Amino acid sequence: MKPAPFHIGIDLDNTLIDYDRVFGQVAVEIGLVPEGTALSSKVATKSYLTNSAQGEKVWMRLQGQVYGRFIKRAQLFAGAGNCLLRARSAGCTISIVSHKTKRGHFDKHKINLWDAARDWLEDHQFFDLDGYGLRPADVHFEETRDAKIDRIRSLGCQFFVDDLPEVLSHRDFPSGVTPIWFANSRPGPVSTPLVAHNSWQDIEATLFGSAH
Ligand SMILES: [Mg+2]
Repeated sequence: MKPAPFHIGIDLDNTLIDYDRVFGQVAVEIGLVPEGTALSSKVATKSYLTNSAQGEKVWMRLQGQVYGRFIKRAQLFAGAGNCLLRARSAGCTISIVSHKTKRGHFDKHKINLWDAARDWLEDHQFFDLDGYGLRPADVHFEETRDAKIDRIRSLGCQFFVDDLPEVLSHRDFPSGVTPIWFANSRPGPVSTPLVAHNSWQDIEATLFGSAH
């Protein structure tokens, strides 16, 4: 493995930002599922909703709410902060590349999801010199998955961390970038050749070796 410093690209939603508890809560609050339905994760909520007719549309609407109006309830994934600080002290460059539409689907509040995500990053010390030390220009939002892949290529990162195998195994994913799959203990596609990282501690160990 290449020694640090290197350039690390990182996805945002469900890779750095942990919405697991938010999806189920918001689904109840905005009346998409009955009161008392216990949905403990993104995956549980998605499979509950997409099982019904209109399910995909309802799921898209919920995502628009969670990534916008309710993003403040989400937290940084456990262990991600340590990994970012370790990257910083090793002199690595960090870029965030997110595939996200600017407006949520079917959102009557018309929240700008890019601004909401930037505010969340600011609230979580991403742009503080005594925090994770990124510049706002290190954060890229792309409207499509293809544009995201193009951005990963043009940034010239050596690693890219994402929760979606569909991104990391994309036919146009640049061959010079080492994919790091944040599986977060979720089962992935059976056929994926990607190595599952079940925590940010695992990702940190892959990038920098085990913590001392
Ligand atoms: Mg993601």
